[in-house]
Amino acid sequence: AERNLGQPEFLQAVTEVMESLWPYIEKHPKYAEQGLLDRLVEPERVVMFRVSWVDDHGQVQVNRGYRIQHSMAIGPYKGGIRFHPSVNLSVLKFLAFEQTFKNALTTLPMGGGKGGSDFDPKGRSPGEVMRFCQAFVCELFRHVGADTDVPAGDIGVGGREVGYMAGMMKKLSNRADCVFTGKGLSFGGSLIRPEATGYGTVYFADEMLKTRGRSFDGLRVSVSGSGNVAQYAVEKAMSLGAKVVTVSDSSGTIIDEDGFTPEKLAILMDVKNHHYGRVNDYAKRTGVRFEAGVRPWHVPVEVALPCATQNELDIKDATTLIKNGVLCVAEGANMPSTIEAAKAFEAAGVLYAPGKASNAGGVATSGLEMSQNAERMSWPREEVDARLLQIMKGIHAACQQYGKRADGSLSYVDGANIAGFVKVADAMLAQGVI
Ligand code: NDP
Repeated sequence: AERNLGQPEFLQAVTEVMESLWPYIEKHPKYAEQGLLDRLVEPERVVMFRVSWVDDHGQVQVNRGYRIQHSMAIGPYKGGIRFHPSVNLSVLKFLAFEQTFKNALTTLPMGGGKGGSDFDPKGRSPGEVMRFCQAFVCELFRHVGADTDVPAGDIGVGGREVGYMAGMMKKLSNRADCVFTGKGLSFGGSLIRPEATGYGTVYFADEMLKTRGRSFDGLRVSVSGSGNVAQYAVEKAMSLGAKVVTVSDSSGTIIDEDGFTPEKLAILMDVKNHHYGRVNDYAKRTGVRFEAGVRPWHVPVEVALPCATQNELDIKDATTLIKNGVLCVAEGANMPSTIEAAKAFEAAGVLYAPGKASNAGGVATSGLEMSQNAERMSWPREEVDARLLQIMKGIHAACQQYGKRADGSLSYVDGANIAGFVKVADAMLAQGVI
């Protein structure tokens, strides 16, 4: 902890993983050897850099850029780029650490990384966003590469931004390698990649519900966020017969007791993806209720899908959800539940999946994009979707295999942490102290 002062999110992520690992390591002492745990919690490399660019008024702006290359043990560093004013070293180190386990769970050969900047795209013109992305890659390019480090999107970085970054990367390297995933379809992107994290989260939740003889059909579902992950979680839950009653953003929550429809979702996507608007703009266009400044968790539901950001669901929210009879919580976002909230769900017997298991479909499909680029082919939608479903089922099975507690209960937290750890740890032990 002394080495990571002022990094609460990073310490939170490490604490959660270590709590799962201790009992396992006691039974498998080889994992306490070769300084393995000390090495695992230290990123292999952290790059911090200046990003200077010129705004629409001719003013020079300076942001801070980062790339955390956490682990290359099982493949090239892989993980998204986040543009949000809350980005700092702690947030990106937690994300890169989590990513390492998540990527191992997919069973694809990808190491863990994460990057981003404190740049706030909100209110910036398209030209400013492009110039920022280009300035960011002017430094990032020397640290990434198809077999070294392959970034993708995350909060504030969607198809448009990935396009600008991939374009600048080509310009600087004079190569058309797959250095970014989440690209547009016309220049190497994969079908289903935009949908993959949201779809995968719902596929995972569906597997969880099956263990209790349930399905999404007829269930009430709350979703937080209204970005990439949230939108496709809404779509897939709806298509499985659920009634989705909330979405949100940092300004407040939409509560729609009639439930989402494909038509309403198309309006939300137009507001968010084309106009870069707020959920209140969506409320105005559809006449649904908007509550300013609140999160969705007070709305009674059977399934909750947090798809916005870290620590957006605390112990008070968890208590309310449990009191209202929630059956299943599957995280589309990374670490949206605080440690206390996660523990409360498990103690109450709620089916609770941590993001590193339930949202791994996004990076898994990025892995499939890398494969398609490497063989210079593109697979049909059905094939990518079928592989995504298989991967999510595989992660669920791995959680069941490693998540059994002494009292016979199943902890998806333990399952995901241990299954991811075993793969990375075995690879590290085999490659010696490096
Ligand atoms: P987007 O930028 O598309 O959407 C983010 C959503 O979360 C927006 O609705 C945003 O609202 C909200 N949000 C962001 N920060 C905050 C905040 N501090 N407080 C309240 N709301 C906030 O990002 P994604 O959908 O891609 O990512 C959402 C989550 O899913 C993140 O945790 C990300 O790491 C995770 N994830 C994403 C993957 C992907 O493939 N995209 C893969 C795996 C995980 P507002 O517009 O008001 O900021």
